[in-house]
Parts: sequence; structure tokens; C-alpha cells
Amino acid sequence: MEVPARARVCCIDEISLVPGSFYVSQLQWDNDVCCRKDYCKKCWEQVEVKRGTFWHARIALKPPPKPDRAVWTLFERLYVSERKDLIYFLALYLERKKQLTCRVKKEPLVYEEPYSGKLFSIFPVALNEEDRKALRAELIKLFAQT
Ligand SMILES: [Zn+2]
Repeated sequence: MEVPARARVCCIDEISLVPGSFYVSQLQWDNDVCCRKDYCKKCWEQVEVKRGTFWHARIALKPPPKPDRAVWTLFERLYVSERKDLIYFLALYLERKKQLTCRVKKEPLVYEEPYSGKLFSIFPVALNEEDRKALRAELIKLFAQT
């Protein structure tokens, strides 16, 4: 499912959203189409009817330290695939490494890359210890191929 990245400017007064800026992102789903609006704090306070899903956040000042390029490449490749289990497993890994932040905690989960504002909507998959082991082994194989 396509979820747009954060806009560079506030959708009301077009003030720039830059590293360090506080902002509010709002998502509204229309069937499978996701509409995203990004507001500066001031404009959001003036929005009377706050519909949909939204979160308050601050744009990270710096890109995450040492982004794990190999994991990201694999994650972005799998993201467009049907492998929901691997996608979710990698998202949890990237979240632990502080390279993704979970912004919407109900289905579908929405993860944001805190610097670029890129969003990923992900369906959680129940994984037991055995599943995790199998996924880990599969990922090691996939990494070996890249
Ligand atoms: Zn604004």
C-alpha cells in the first residue's frame, strides 16, 4: 500500500518543515488510497475537526547513525512483495535500531523513517519463536545473495 512521504511544507501556510521542526501528520484512508497531510504545530491547533489518524512528532535533526544500508535495501525490496512476515520482521528490527518509528499502532501499522518522513504501512504478523528462527535463517540467505 502506497503511503506518501512527509511534505516539505505545511499544507496550510506552506511554512518549511525542516530538521528539528515539530509537525503533525494526518492520514485518511479511502479504501486503499491513503491521503496524508502534514501541518506545522500552529496550523494544526487551528484545525477544528481532527479526523483520521494523526500523530505529533519532530523531524529528526540528523539521519540515524550508520543506517544499515543492506537491511534497508532488502526491506524496501521486500516491501513491494507479498512476504508480510519478512516485511514485519525487518520493520521490528529497524525499529529496534531506531531507524523506523511506529506512528500508528493499529492495523495497518504505520512506520515512519524519522528523518526523511517516508512512511510504510505494514500488517503485523503473529510470530512465535520458531517462526522467528526460520525468518532469521531466510534473511541470512537473502543477505548472502545481495
Ligand atoms: Zn502551518
